[in-house]
Amino acid sequence: MISYKDRTFCASEVDDHNCSREFTKQDAIDAEKWWGSKDFPVAWAKFCKEDKEDSEND
Ligand SMILES: [Zn+2]
Repeated sequence: MISYKDRTFCASEVDDHNCSREFTKQDAIDAEKWWGSKDFPVAWAKFCKEDKEDSEND
C-alpha cells in the first residue's frame, strides 16, 4: 500500500508531539504535490498520548 513518504504519521490530537512523526502543514503541501490531489494517502497511527478529560467517574 502506498502512503506519503512511506512512513506512518502521528494522528494523536495533541498540542505538542514528542514523537517527531507529526504531520505538518508543510507535509500536507508536499503530499498534495506528490500525489497530485488533496486525497493523498497517509498512514496514520497514534504515537502520542492524548490528554482527554473524559472521565469524571471517581
Ligand atoms: Zn505525536
